[in-house]
Amino acid sequence: MSNTSQDKLPDDIVHHIEHLERVRRDFIANVSHELRTPLTVIRGYLEALIEQNDSNPTWDKIFKQMHQHSLRMEHIIKDLLFLSHLETTEQEIVYQKKLPIADMLTAVCEDAQQLSQGQHHISLSKDTKLSLDGIAEELRSLFYNLIGNAVKYTPKGGKIEVIWKLENEEACFKVIDNGIGIEKKDIPRITERFYRVDKARSRDSGGTGLGLAIVKHVLLRHQGELIIHSELGKGSEFCCMFPKEMVYVSK
Ligand code: ADP
Repeated sequence: MSNTSQDKLPDDIVHHIEHLERVRRDFIANVSHELRTPLTVIRGYLEALIEQNDSNPTWDKIFKQMHQHSLRMEHIIKDLLFLSHLETTEQEIVYQKKLPIADMLTAVCEDAQQLSQGQHHISLSKDTKLSLDGIAEELRSLFYNLIGNAVKYTPKGGKIEVIWKLENEEACFKVIDNGIGIEKKDIPRITERFYRVDKARSRDSGGTGLGLAIVKHVLLRHQGELIIHSELGKGSEFCCMFPKEMVYVSK
């Protein structure tokens, strides 16, 4: 008998796969959690060493580099824990009603301005009447990851457009940049954990390689869809569509 994709797997195999998936998720969550405390202690001591050492420039440089790396590791662990939380399917998702997305975007764009240090032109076009049911913390992370990426992967002087609008009864959040762009072959893979087109560039800009994986999971939890258009050397457009059932338009 041929095995088509419609064939159902036997229940015991499905349970086994679910079990392995749970073990994988728990392992990542536990490792991340266990690493957090020792790392916080190490960072604390490094901060004390930096403060105390005012005579030896060589050690000062070393301590500062170690401190930078400990901050990076903390950032990775924070993102891994957040991803584990997003992947947890046991708890029922509770949406907050009518979130003021336009206000949230104003705040996120201010944070992005800080990241850019005034080196990009960031514009926000928002429909203030348009709100969404969802989870505020998760949506804020999605917005910051996409706008932050536009800053990180657009050279100084570049343009970043953030758009929040209604499109065919659905809500559309879009970030357009005229930055370095992404090669066609990489686009299907960039939402995978730790997949970076250019590892060194991502690291230098403080990236964890988990931002777009977080975006993908947040969208899954909001029944949303991510559409990516990009051209190498020209720029990128990341568009998130949220279904009309989650959308409100005030009068
Ligand atoms: P990172 O922390 O490395 O930015 P992400 O998951 O957010 O991780 O993104 C994965 C990779 O996708 C990045 O390393 C980069 O190569 C590419 N990328 C994401 N956003 C953009 C963008 N706006 N322009 C160009 N490349 C991008």
